[in-house]
Amino acid sequence: MGSLWHPFSDMAVVERDGELVIDRGEGAYVWDADGNRYLDATAGLWFANIGHGRSELADAAAAQMRKVAAYSTFGDYVTAPTVELAERLAGIAPVPGSKVFLTSGGSDSIDTAAKLARRYWVEAGHPEKTVIIGRQKAYHGMHYAGTALGGIPGNVEGYGVLVPDTATVEWDSVDDLRATVERVGPERVAAFFCEPVVGAGGVYPPPPDYLAGVRKLCTEMDVLFVADEVITGFGRIGGAWFASSKFGLEPDLVTCAKGLTSGYAPMGAVLVAPRVWEPFFGPQPGVWWRHGYTYSGHAASSAVALANLDVIEREGLLDEAARLETTLAARLGPLAELEGVVEVRCGTGALAAVQLADPPTAMALAKRLRSFGVVTRAVGAGGIQVSPAFVMTDDQVGDLADAITAALAA
Ligand code: PLP
Repeated sequence: MGSLWHPFSDMAVVERDGELVIDRGEGAYVWDADGNRYLDATAGLWFANIGHGRSELADAAAAQMRKVAAYSTFGDYVTAPTVELAERLAGIAPVPGSKVFLTSGGSDSIDTAAKLARRYWVEAGHPEKTVIIGRQKAYHGMHYAGTALGGIPGNVEGYGVLVPDTATVEWDSVDDLRATVERVGPERVAAFFCEPVVGAGGVYPPPPDYLAGVRKLCTEMDVLFVADEVITGFGRIGGAWFASSKFGLEPDLVTCAKGLTSGYAPMGAVLVAPRVWEPFFGPQPGVWWRHGYTYSGHAASSAVALANLDVIEREGLLDEAARLETTLAARLGPLAELEGVVEVRCGTGALAAVQLADPPTAMALAKRLRSFGVVTRAVGAGGIQVSPAFVMTDDQVGDLADAITAALAA
């Protein structure tokens, strides 16, 4: 019996059946400790946007660690890669003039955004605006704020009252958001958190006009619009750095992580639009935000993030994710006709889910796929997750479709 408690796992099953030890990775493939090769359908947990095994990123980390691995960024301390990364992120942020608050990962980014939304309204003279709204099906990480704002029932239950002054609306209804804001009172609502494409809830692309509708409503009601781009950011939406840019959302806050470093080092960020940062940046001293993490702006992680952005730019990977949008639809779309499959959700970048008719069988199918040379997992209520590295070729997507077809028949 091992000592590791795996996240999101039935440990009785892991104890009984053992672990799958991933030993190395290259591009869209990973190998286990016995040397078996698998096509990585999920790019780890939706993060390895540039693919595995890039020594360039290892070199960037090693070079920075040899100089100084990390230092504080509290007060006026900083390291050079952290400054450079913030400039670089501000340059690609969906809203010009954004400031960059760095974190250790996606859940940190969500907690940061939730606290900042409330704190902003205090500075703006409306301390009564404290209510934060999330959506059904939503996944915003597993800190307290993100758990409270989540909409996947099993993730939310069992903790008593999580965070007061939070509410949940239907995932696909502008009208329900409007009704909820009106019921609570717009003068009490601080922010609305929205994944442009629902990710862990099952890969649900936004219904037509939904994003434009909720964005407009937030503007009308003076509610901050927070785009959770932990999955959709850094190219996964295809053809743009962020879904917010692609869909013209102009969010007040953007939360991100994962593709920021492609998972080569843990790191997240919150991109803060001028309206929200202005009260905290003077000109008079005295208003400061007592918030931050030991590893906010971690130097080696920043160096890795910079190298990751270099790779995305140099290899045109935003366009490769757009290519995958087309290929996933062409190759996985037809699986919807197979017995046992209800639908294939795709059409928003390098993201798809194959929805099974019998949801409880998804975990078993995901596991069976390993013997067909694919690693993936169940997502949402009975979906098979597909969120490949942007370097996955069209032929490899074909291999993936063939493997799913064979595993379903087996
Ligand atoms: N937000 C979204 C949309 C996510 O998908 C995730 C993780 O999957 C998170 C937040 C939390 O990120 P992390 O697991 O890095 O804390």
